[in-house]
Amino acid sequence: MGKIKKNIAVIGAGAAGLIAASIAKKDYINVDLYEKNALIGKKILISGNGRCNISNADISQNDYYGEDISFVKQPMENFGFRKLKKFCMDMGLLLDIKEDKRVFPLSNEAKSVVFAFENLLNELGVNIITNTAVSRIQKSNNVFFIYKNEGKINERYDAVLLSSGCRAAPQLGADESGLNIAESFGHTINKPYPSLVPLEINSNICRRMDGVKCKAGVSLYVNRRKIQEVYGDILFTKYGISGFAILDISIAASFHLSKKSNVTISVNLLPQIERQFIDSFIRKAACKHKSFTILDILCGILPYKIARALLYELGIETEMKAHTLTEKLIKTLTHKMFDWRFDIASTHGFKYAEACGGGVKTSEIDNKTMESKIVKGLYFAGEIIDIVGKRGGYNLAFSFASGYSAGKNMII
Ligand SMILES: Cc1cc2nc3c(=O)[nH]c(=O)nc-3n(C[C@H](O)[C@H](O)[C@H](O)COP(=O)(O)OP(=O)(O)OC[C@H]3O[C@@H](n4cnc5c(N)ncnc54)[C@H](O)[C@@H]3O)c2cc1C
Repeated sequence: MGKIKKNIAVIGAGAAGLIAASIAKKDYINVDLYEKNALIGKKILISGNGRCNISNADISQNDYYGEDISFVKQPMENFGFRKLKKFCMDMGLLLDIKEDKRVFPLSNEAKSVVFAFENLLNELGVNIITNTAVSRIQKSNNVFFIYKNEGKINERYDAVLLSSGCRAAPQLGADESGLNIAESFGHTINKPYPSLVPLEINSNICRRMDGVKCKAGVSLYVNRRKIQEVYGDILFTKYGISGFAILDISIAASFHLSKKSNVTISVNLLPQIERQFIDSFIRKAACKHKSFTILDILCGILPYKIARALLYELGIETEMKAHTLTEKLIKTLTHKMFDWRFDIASTHGFKYAEACGGGVKTSEIDNKTMESKIVKGLYFAGEIIDIVGKRGGYNLAFSFASGYSAGKNMII
C-alpha cells in the first residue's frame, strides 16, 4: 500500500456518494464514506419500484428543472450514459436499455446495483461507516473536522463531499442535515420542494373517484397560462390525484406552488376521442333510449365512479332521463369530460415525493469539478444540489454524473 497523501470524507452513501467514493479511492487516497442508515443505497433499493431505473440513454439539460439547468450539461458531458454503462460493466453490473431509452439493471433488480457497489467499495478498501449521522463540519487551517451527533469524530480530512441528498422520502433517511451544513459554510439554499409527487386538490370531488385509474391528457396551468401537457395514467385518490402523468407534471406544478403561483390542472378523460363524436353519441343514445338515465349513458363512456362524480360536480341528478337533457347541459357535460379543471392546493408532501427540487444554489458550485466556489475542498453531488430530473432515470443519472465528477476532482 502506498503512503496516504489525501484523506477524504464522503457524507451519504446514496448513488452520488457511492460512485464518488469508488472513483476517489486509490492506494494513496483514504476514503471514509459516512452513512446515517444501517445500510448503504437505501433509496436505490426502492427506486423504480425495486427495479431501479438507473439512467436514460437519451439525456439533455431539458430533462431537468432548477434555477439554472445549464449546470447539468458539464457533469453529463463528463459522465454520460456510455461512461456509466462502461463503469457498471467494469464493476460487474450489466444494463438493459428499453425501447423508450430508460435503462435498468439486466437482472431487473435494484438489489444488483447496491450489491455491485458494495462489492466494489469493499474490494477497493473504502471505509464504509454506517449508523453515523454527520451533524456538523468545520474547517480550519485547510483541514475539515467532522462531528457526529455524539461529538467530534477524531478525523481530519483534506476534502469533503456532501452527497447527503435532500428531503424527499424522509422515511428512508432523507433530511436537511446536508443543507444545514452547506448553509453553515455560507452557501445559499433554494427552498426545497417535493417533486415527482402526487397532488392534493382543493375540493372533495376526487374522494368520490378514489381508486379509479385511467389514461388521460393532463395540462398544467400556472396563473391561467398553459405551460405543459402530458398524456398517461392518472389515479384518483382520497386527497387528490396521482399516477405517472401527474408525477410528470408535478415537477413544474410543485416548483410554481412553492412560488405561491395559482396552479390548476385540466384533465381530458377522453384524449383519444373527438369531442364532437362524444357530443353526438350522447345525443343519439338519449334520443334512442328514452328509458335511459344520463348515468346509464355516461357509464358506457367513462368508469362508473367518474361518471357519478361528474354528474355530482355539475349538479345533475343521476336519475335524470337522458332525453330530457338540454343542449346546454349536454355541451357542459362533454366540455367537462374533455377539460375538467382541478385547483391544486399543494403536493402530497416530501414523504410521497420521489425527488426533491431546490437545494444548494448551482451558481455557487463549479460544475466542472463539483467543488464549492465558496469553500475550497468542499464538494457537492446528487440531489442536494438545486437540480431535479424528470421521471425516467434522470435523477439517478445526475447523481451518478455529479458524483463521478466530484470523486475525480477531489483527489487532484
Ligand atoms: C420511491 C422512489 C423511487 C425512485 N425511483 C427512481 C428511479 O427509478 N430512477 C431515478 O433516476 N430516480 C429515482 N428516484 C430518485 C433517486 O432515487 C434520487 O434522486 C437519488 O437516489 C438521489 O441520490 P443521492 O445520492 O443524491 O441522495 P440519496 O440517495 O438520498 O442518498 C443520500 C444518503 O445520505 C444519507 N445521509 C443524509 N444525511 C446524512 C448525514 N447527515 N450523515 C450521514 N449520512 C447522511 C442518507 O441516509 C442517504 O442514504 C426515486 C426516489 C424515490 C424516493
